[in-house]
Amino acid sequence: MILVTGGAGYIGSHVCMALLDAGLDVVALDNLSNSNQASLQRVQSLCGRSLVFRHADIRNEEAIYDILRACGVSAVIHLAGLKAVGDSSVRPMTYYENNVLGTMRLISAMRKAHVKTLVFSSSATVYGVPTYLPLDEQHPLGPTNPYGRTKLFIEEMLKDLYRSDDEWRLGILRYFNPVGAHESGLIGEDPVGVPNNLVPFVAQVAIGKQEKLKICGNDYDTPDGTGIRDYIHVVDLASGHLSVLSHLKQPGVLTLNLGTGNGNSVLEVIRTFEAVSGRPIPYEIGERRAGDVAICYADPTLAGETLGWQSTRSLAQMCADHWRWQLNNPCGYRGT
Ligand code: NAD
Ligand code: UDP
Repeated sequence: MILVTGGAGYIGSHVCMALLDAGLDVVALDNLSNSNQASLQRVQSLCGRSLVFRHADIRNEEAIYDILRACGVSAVIHLAGLKAVGDSSVRPMTYYENNVLGTMRLISAMRKAHVKTLVFSSSATVYGVPTYLPLDEQHPLGPTNPYGRTKLFIEEMLKDLYRSDDEWRLGILRYFNPVGAHESGLIGEDPVGVPNNLVPFVAQVAIGKQEKLKICGNDYDTPDGTGIRDYIHVVDLASGHLSVLSHLKQPGVLTLNLGTGNGNSVLEVIRTFEAVSGRPIPYEIGERRAGDVAICYADPTLAGETLGWQSTRSLAQMCADHWRWQLNNPCGYRGT
């Protein structure tokens, strides 16, 4: 039985889907602070298998311990956390409490329950401003915002944990920019309020929920002046979790980038989305967003060599799948 914390969320629901599809049993835990349980109902009807859902908070050590014991959990995929970069500067202590303290409580419950296999959702944001590209796992770390620092502190905590007890099997996955949705159009990203991220915002412009996109700067040192990121299909990302789980047979700490190795500019994303949706994406050029870097993309070689994993879906497929989800669910899960 695999415990997925944050299982009802965007990435979590796709991870649950991948695990169930692979024949594994799943208990999904979520406090539903940024998600809707309907995602998991859809996951179950899509794959024709059921999972266990527990409405709980990772900061509640007793509740986690009870779930680990009662469900016979053998490994944890830990996605629960707050993730809005801008918000983390406004409410840093909330982020440290939720993400760092929450992970400490989770680990404590795992130790008591003798469950010592953990896969953690980290982020490319731990690299901060790139000093060279593509970003490999050896690149110096230096996140520029509180959210990124919660990820870095948790990474360091996990490494210390292993140094103190070499029975742990730890996977640290540094995600680049997850976008897209399951090809069914039934599960996807359901942001609360105005989306902060590019692709969800573009999708809302395409469907008419937002009037136009503001491009955050077109004076970067990139071919078209707009920022470049490594967008990765959420289904490819989810399959990476399956690969790392089956690889964590030996104790150790495995830190891997999950990205495509390709960079695309904001204008390329807009054009691709227009092409697959057949809808215009009006935009205006605005100021640079504080803390944004010009270019960020992964060197995914290590994940390829270690796991035999690589992303397979193109930017066009990411946009097409994101669009199908948006079109079928204009109000996200709240319409269900
Ligand atoms: P999400 O908000 O959709 O999912 C996170 C889930 O965790 C939500 O369902 C939320 O309700 C739950 N949660 C939050 N705090 C909790 C707590 N204390 N106890 C129990 N549940 C809690 O976000 P996502 O995009 O699916 O991200 C999943 C993980 O991946 C996060 O840790 C995030 O930081 C990380 N990540 C995301 C991205 C991205 O761009 N989406 C990039 C890099 C890393
Ligand atoms: N971006 C933009 N307008 C928006 C949101 C994002 O131009 O409304 C740009 C942003 O400056 C960056 C890229 O799109 O170059 C991806 O931003 P996102 O927030 O999705 O990811 P992150 O910056 O966290 O990598």
